[in-house]
Amino acid sequence: MAVSKDMILPIMSSVARQKGIDILSTGDWTHPIWFRELRDNLVESHEGLFALKNNDTSLREQNFILSTEISCIFTQNGKTHRMHNLVISPSFEVCEKINKELKKRGCNLAADGRPIIGLTSKQLLELILEVDERCLLIPCHIWTPWFSLYGANSGFESFTQCFEELSDYVYGIETGLDSDPEMNWQIGDLKHKTLLSFSDAHSPSKMGREETVFRLQKPSFTNIAEAIMSQTLISKGKKPQNTVGYTIEFYSEEGKYYYNGHRKCGIYQTPAQTRESGTTCPVCKRKLTIGVRQRVDDLITNPSSGTTETREYDIKWILDPTAVRPPFMKLVPLNEIIAQSLAVGVGSKRVHQMLTLLHATLGSELDILLKTKNSKIAVIAGERIAQGIDYVRNGNIVIKPGYDGLYGKVSIFDSNSSNVPSKQDKQLGIDF
Ligand SMILES: [Zn+2]
Ligand SMILES: [Zn+2]
Repeated sequence: MAVSKDMILPIMSSVARQKGIDILSTGDWTHPIWFRELRDNLVESHEGLFALKNNDTSLREQNFILSTEISCIFTQNGKTHRMHNLVISPSFEVCEKINKELKKRGCNLAADGRPIIGLTSKQLLELILEVDERCLLIPCHIWTPWFSLYGANSGFESFTQCFEELSDYVYGIETGLDSDPEMNWQIGDLKHKTLLSFSDAHSPSKMGREETVFRLQKPSFTNIAEAIMSQTLISKGKKPQNTVGYTIEFYSEEGKYYYNGHRKCGIYQTPAQTRESGTTCPVCKRKLTIGVRQRVDDLITNPSSGTTETREYDIKWILDPTAVRPPFMKLVPLNEIIAQSLAVGVGSKRVHQMLTLLHATLGSELDILLKTKNSKIAVIAGERIAQGIDYVRNGNIVIKPGYDGLYGKVSIFDSNSSNVPSKQDKQLGIDF
């Protein structure tokens, strides 16, 4: 219902290839029609992973994992909670059994790709583990105000408040667009949980805007599961063979619930401003939507900050000072960099042409952003796009934070500078 009509398997597969994504989620396997589509068109490529049945071999290289998002709306200990959870399954048979159990409990799976169910998150976890103990539940975008584990409006104060004695069976969490690993490193509750980043894409162009880079001995469901369990395993003195190498993050400020505010009233505040003036909106006098930044600040138990290191290709990495957690980097999607460099819209033909040219000559989006010398990019895309990529790599950009459902805005080229695209920059790529 809320997904682009282009989110069909062949397009997802080919866009994943362009972006440099090897493993992507099928999404929505709880929905009977989408489930049938998956079953008819995918074939097991590695244990627990699936590729397109297709004559075009280039479309068979990307692997799908069976994961779906479920919205749990429930009352627990007298309080109403709304939470989104990812469920990852090792096989179609297991998906089928879970769907059957959910329907038995009166859940309407056909109503939406992300069904709303009345079970608690703990009951959902119990259900999937009873069907098959290899299943994984991952709380989604855990800080967003309305539908998350820690959300300011309907969340919990801690993991154990939510999952009680089953808390240790949840191994990973999704940091979401509005928070990054550094913010989450400071939450004692998450010390032994693996921090994961996924795009939550509803349309092809948003795929890969956040990513988890797994270090796997070989691709398989079991190995991905071990990587997701890795922080728990490490805390028990074990040495997992499969881990998370790093995550690629959105600038958290760009997320649509970073600061506090009211979109309709045009009011936004930093946590410090709200602490001073209170949570009442100065315009409509109702309570402001409390954003992720403030909620994280409220639950921080171990204040610390990451260390930064500039590595190959001038990419700024952020490292866990205790070296227990994988590092991360922040990126801006390539189409957005090109659009800002050329001062045109993200969906414009010129951006599309430039992307096509860059993929044909330099490879996938990740190859371009992470593994290509700036001078090489400049030869093909022009100085200005190369400069934009350089600014993104070393974090030299300006962001107007998002609030109350409004995405933040990234300005790669400082609006005060006279640095506007030249005629030559604007023409590059047009003749391709
Ligand atoms: Zn969600
Ligand atoms: Zn207001």
